[in-house]
Amino acid sequence: MKIAVISTGSELLKGATVNTNLAFLGQALTAAGFTLERGAIVPDSGKSMTEALASLAPVSDIIITTGGLGPTSDDITRQVVCEFFGLKLKEDPQLRKKLEEYWQSLKRGFAPEALFLQAQVPENAVVLENRNGTAPGLWLNTQKDGSAKIIILLPGPPSELEPMFMAEVMPKLEAIAVERIFTERFMVAGAAELTIQQQVEAVIGNLPVEPAYCASAEGVRVFLAGTDRPLLKTKVAELKKIFGNAVLANDSLSLAEEASFQLRSRKLTLSTAESCTGGMIAAAITDLAGSSDIFKGSVVAYSNEVKEKMLGVPAEILIKHGAVSEECVAVMVDNVCARFATDAGIAVSGIAGPGGGTPDKPVGLVFIGVRVKGRAEVRKFNFRGSRETVRRRAVASAFRMLRDLLFQQ
Ligand code: ATP
Ligand code: MG
Repeated sequence: MKIAVISTGSELLKGATVNTNLAFLGQALTAAGFTLERGAIVPDSGKSMTEALASLAPVSDIIITTGGLGPTSDDITRQVVCEFFGLKLKEDPQLRKKLEEYWQSLKRGFAPEALFLQAQVPENAVVLENRNGTAPGLWLNTQKDGSAKIIILLPGPPSELEPMFMAEVMPKLEAIAVERIFTERFMVAGAAELTIQQQVEAVIGNLPVEPAYCASAEGVRVFLAGTDRPLLKTKVAELKKIFGNAVLANDSLSLAEEASFQLRSRKLTLSTAESCTGGMIAAAITDLAGSSDIFKGSVVAYSNEVKEKMLGVPAEILIKHGAVSEECVAVMVDNVCARFATDAGIAVSGIAGPGGGTPDKPVGLVFIGVRVKGRAEVRKFNFRGSRETVRRRAVASAFRMLRDLLFQQ
């Protein structure tokens, strides 16, 4: 089944709204064994939408549109799609009643006629209930040039589209699925993509498994896709054995996720003292639900004053060695553990750039300190790249150092 998405909305092309609906649909479809093959983004214009339909219909079995189902004048998806496929729109009395009741509940007087555009439904369409808004979605079984097509119209707001897709669309797709493609994934910490690729390919050989890789500062995520789920699982198990300890535990797909898991399973708590990363490590940990049992808190110690007053870094160290030094970070990590009463701690101080570098202490110089119970370690890094890259690499390295120390417990 070839699936395509048409995202409608001029705001998506202007960059005012990020197309999260496409990312959501891609992820949800992939997770369920479907492949999203194409995507188009079009402004709120009937002509552009028709052109997108004309180019995608011949190469797709299913087209999902997002946005433009509301009652305003720029909401034209329903009409454009029906015109393209030669479908007649008719008002659904039940939908009209629902919309009327909704409007009454707002107590805003008479309902404007435009509201009821949302009650217009093509013949034989299945109405997809919208539990989080007014515009219902539509599922159309239709034809174009003699071949069957399924067109699924979804509302634009992600808070409406996402639950509607999972509750109303996914079960219907699963019911008609012929052959599904499954994906198994795991993450290898701190490895080079090319090395991983060679090893994965050696294990897969000529088997019907499609590998894919996604490298980041944290490591490489490996994806194996194919129709034979047991085969995928066997190959993943084989590869995990080969990569050994480098594979993140508990199917984690990020170092923060794994750090949380490792800390939790050892019943340890963490605090952080962050200068150049400005709380990014704390944010990565607290992004994960339920982090309160392992994470106590953080000091964003950006200025020397805060390093001195809140973290007890002696003035002599700051004067003699500076804030970006092994000595400073060593005190930061010890004292953050002591003051937050945690078993583990991370401290970071560095020069993220683009300014502030000196010949002695160039941009990218970062000291990272990690402590787990009685063991502490400070390491010096020279990261290359933009401010953002330096900070991201510092976060990844801090998590990797924590990982190494935890394994030594
Ligand atoms: P409404 O009844 O709210 O008008 P609609 O189905 O007509 O719903 P749109 O008008 O296209 O949808 O978009 C409504 C809101 O959803 C806008 O704030 C828009 O920025 C957001 N939105 C639309 N498409 C996307 C998308 N692809 N990704 C993320 N947000 C989106
Ligand atoms: Mg709208």
